[in-house]
Amino acid sequence: MKVGLVTYTPEKVEGFDLHAYYAKWADGSVFPAAKEMQNDVTCFCDARAIREDPSIVAVSKNGPALRKNRKINMPFDFVCPTNPEYKAKVLDYIKGLDRENIEGVTLSLYHFPEEEFCVCPRCVNLWRQSGLNWTEWRAQTVTDFLKEAKSLVKGAFAVEMFPDPVLAKERFGTDFERIAELVDYFHVPLSSRDYLTNYWVDLLARDFVKVLKKPVFVELSAEMLTDEKTDALLKTVAYLSRHNLMGVLLLVHDSENARQVCRFAVNNGAFREWLRKYEFTEMTRIVNEWAKLY
Ligand SMILES: [Zn+2]
Repeated sequence: MKVGLVTYTPEKVEGFDLHAYYAKWADGSVFPAAKEMQNDVTCFCDARAIREDPSIVAVSKNGPALRKNRKINMPFDFVCPTNPEYKAKVLDYIKGLDRENIEGVTLSLYHFPEEEFCVCPRCVNLWRQSGLNWTEWRAQTVTDFLKEAKSLVKGAFAVEMFPDPVLAKERFGTDFERIAELVDYFHVPLSSRDYLTNYWVDLLARDFVKVLKKPVFVELSAEMLTDEKTDALLKTVAYLSRHNLMGVLLLVHDSENARQVCRFAVNNGAFREWLRKYEFTEMTRIVNEWAKLY
């Protein structure tokens, strides 16, 4: 199993096999490409673009796809995915990344915000013209966008998955089968403030490995740094190492944050004894590798 990082700093850290860098954020911030790294691009969530032009937001009968709309529960502010000008801007940005020496591109939030979106006049018109039902039209819209994006990327092409293994196609327009044909792997973020309760990580990892027809990376949040939380995080990674995953990605603020996780694992005799006693052979191998560096 590989271990990688998802990070806000364009710096590789020793002891990790893959580095995903947040190049374009949901708040609208955009950064230059991180060389030799996987560049993660937030597609249709862009709070700044919506502030500048509120007419581009995705809409439903319960109002716009904004965090401040309390009739719905939106984690981010969503642009309508059929807006031609905004879409062209995102694709242009991806094209620019690909001109640099990058590992590849991961797309996130490239889909509809929820089942009831988007009913702007353009979307309703496109849906009617398609002759497809609502679910199929939305899935086709998302898949077509991913195809266009993939055609611009020479390196590894991956997508993040909103972690709903059951209703994803109806809710977001993400069609697992069609998307599997386009990507090298799936990146499933299972973010949490801590993993002191972790059965749900096991559960969702199991479901996604079963239903996705391409390799899977699971992302866990590693920004917390109390001993108790780091211990729970590392034990959760150990349990994940028993699934058939391509790897685990740890979300960190910066490189020092990543090194702290490694040092905690290496220097924690009780944790390493726990790995040995319960025969976590793959996780033991990973910590032994870190021990050569940290
Ligand atoms: Zn729309």
